[in-house]
Parts: sequence; C-alpha cells; structure tokens
Amino acid sequence: MIVFEDVAKRYAGGYTALAGVDFAIRHGELVVLSGHSGAGKSTLLKLIPVIERPSAGRVLINGQDVSHLPKAAIPYLRRNLGLVLQESRLLFDRNVFDNVMLPLVITGHPPRDAARRVAAALDRVGLNGRGKEMPAGLSGGEQQRVAIARAIVNRPSILIADEPTAHLDPAYAADIAELFLSFNEAGVTVLVSTHDVSLFAASQPRRLVLEKGELTGDSRPAGSTADK
Ligand code: ADP
Ligand code: ADP
Repeated sequence: MIVFEDVAKRYAGGYTALAGVDFAIRHGELVVLSGHSGAGKSTLLKLIPVIERPSAGRVLINGQDVSHLPKAAIPYLRRNLGLVLQESRLLFDRNVFDNVMLPLVITGHPPRDAARRVAAALDRVGLNGRGKEMPAGLSGGEQQRVAIARAIVNRPSILIADEPTAHLDPAYAADIAELFLSFNEAGVTVLVSTHDVSLFAASQPRRLVLEKGELTGDSRPAGSTADK
C-alpha cells in the first residue's frame, strides 16, 4: 500500500537527499524508519503526502502513483493519511478540541458527528475531557497527543509520524510509542521515524534504515509473518 520504486530526491541546489530507495509496506504493517540526523527520513516521509515530489522513481499509495499527482488531487490523498510531521504544529490560539476538529472542518464533516469523533479521538490518546484546555498549558507529551488525535480523527488507514518522540522525556516518549503500537493493533498501517529504535523494540517492528539517503537495511524480525 506504500511502495517506493527506485526513488531519488534532489533538492534545488543539487543536494541528493535520497537515492535508489526501494521498499513496499503492506496493509497493517508497523514500520520504524531509522537513521542519523540528515539521513533523509523527513524527506522520505514527505514524499507520501506529496509535500515533496521525487526527482526520479515512483511512489505508490494504495496502488496510485502519486509522483505526478495533480495539485487538486492532493487533498483527497491526504484524507486517507494521518500525518504527524515536524511542521504539524498545533494552533496555539485555539483550544485542544478545535485543534483536533480542524481536519473535519476542512473536509466539511457534519458538526454533530465531528464533535463525537473529536471526543473519541481525544479519548483514544488519553486526553478525555481536556478539550477546553489551551495547548500552551499542556506538557510536551500532551501536545504531541493532541497532534496525534488530530492525525487520526479522520480515521486514516495509514499513519505517518516523523520523530514523534523527539524532545520528549523518556517516560513520555515510551507512552507515545505505545500509542502508535495500539493504533497498529487496531489495524492502522504505521510508518514512524525515530533515531531511538529501542522505543519500539518490544513490538519487534520491521525496521528500515537510511544512511546518507540510501536504504541500507530492511529487517523483519525472525518468525515474522508479514510476508505471507
Ligand atoms: P532527516 O529527517 O533524516 O534528519 P532530512 O530528510 O531532513 O533528514 O534531510 C536530508 C538532507 O536533505 C539533509 O542534508 C538536509 O539538509 C537536506 N534537505 C532537507 N530539506 C531540504 C530542502 N528543503 N532544501 C535543501 N536541502 C534539504
Ligand atoms: P468511535 O467508533 O466512537 O469513533 P472508536 O473507539 O472506534 O470510537 O475510535 C475512537 C477514535 O480513535 C476514532 O474516532 C478514531 O479517531 C480513532 N481510531 C480508532 N480506531 C481507528 C482505526 N482503525 N483507524 C483510524 N482511527 C482509529
């Protein structure tokens, strides 16, 4: 459902952030993307919602080649994607409820059902009853939960997160990792980047390793049935 075929990304100015990247992620997989800072993790993740486009190769999402997707079609693609990216900042002049509601407002969801969905999404991330609070009053871990609630409120089948545990205390980071595992257990395909793979180690996820823009590792734990 997420396929990269010989994908390269060169930024204006000539810097090659990705080269020859090939992989396929199946429905329902949990995949951890690891690599040092600057390895190309953010770049790779941005190609999926077409925030960036590949310079060569193809990116397919649910069988659709999005490499040359017309601009007008991008919002429809993103409706099926839950995104927790570096630029997914909360709106600090709106309360938690309104932040999570935002994607549903954009898609023109009926207000009553939208409110129910927001409450369910907040409940799902452990922020039940916290909708009226302002983001600035929340801890870093709680703010990240709001961002995750906003990402899943549309019930996407794919959840993509770029270093969602960066800048969090280890205890908060472990809770956030746990949350991604729980979404995966509920059937959501999860692709999450981190420089701390130990956070997800207990669930033995498939691991993609990027080094200087090249995929140098694609490991499934022994006994995995993901290939069958
Ligand atoms: P990571 O997420 O693994 O830290 P990035 O994908 O952010 O890696 O960056 C990979 C490389 O691409 C870095 O050297 C970075 O400086 C470069 N890069 C990222 N975004 C841009 C951009 N918009 N323009 C030019 N170079 C960029
Ligand atoms: P409800 O059916 O009342 O919405 P759920 O417990 O099924 O309650 O889900 C609560 C929230 O968690 C959903 O609104 C959604 O945001 C998120 N969620 C739960 N399961 C999934 C899933 N499989 N895919 C995407 N989001 C999900």
